[in-house]
Formats: sequence, C-alpha cells, structure tokens
Amino acid sequence: MAKIKKIVVDRNLCIGAASCVLTADTVFELDAENKAIIKLKGGVKSADPAEKTALEDEAVSDDTLLTAAQSCPTRAIFLYDEDGKQVYP
Ligand code: SF4
Repeated sequence: MAKIKKIVVDRNLCIGAASCVLTADTVFELDAENKAIIKLKGGVKSADPAEKTALEDEAVSDDTLLTAAQSCPTRAIFLYDEDGKQVYP
C-alpha cells in the first residue's frame, strides 16, 4: 500500500458511530456535534484535512489509519498518499 500522507474526515458523511475512535483513539475523537475530529500536535483538534506529519500521534501506522477508515460505516474517512492519490475508500 502507498504511504498515507493526508487524512480527511467528511463531516457530512460522519454519523458519529465512533468506530474510528475505537480503532485509532490517538488520531480521532468525537466533538460536541458527535462528528469525528483529528487530533493534531499541541492538543489542537481539527475538522480540516490533516497531514499525517501534523498528527499528535505522528507515528501511528498506516495500517491503523486504514483499519480505522475501513471501520467507518459511512466511509467518511478519506486517505491520500504522497502523490495526492486517494488510497481509501
Ligand atoms: S467511524 Fe466514521 S461515522 Fe463513525 S465517527 Fe468515525 S468518521 Fe464518523
């Protein structure tokens, strides 16, 4: 699999099922609206597309990110590689 560079949560698709949080709780959490947000360095929580290098848990494995994305029932998590190509879904 190509290396994951960018992670995007589509808030319109997210239904707050929290499967991603269960799979990768160092990367995702639910916000007050029950939508997944991404945990960035410095305790920042973001609903915007995030570079993997900006993650609080920068060392999270690509496998874990992929498993989290695959666990999402509405496929709300999009993963992109270094060439900007969509890896998932
Ligand atoms: S698994 Fe999908 S629907 Fe559930 S909280 Fe995560 S992004 Fe949202």
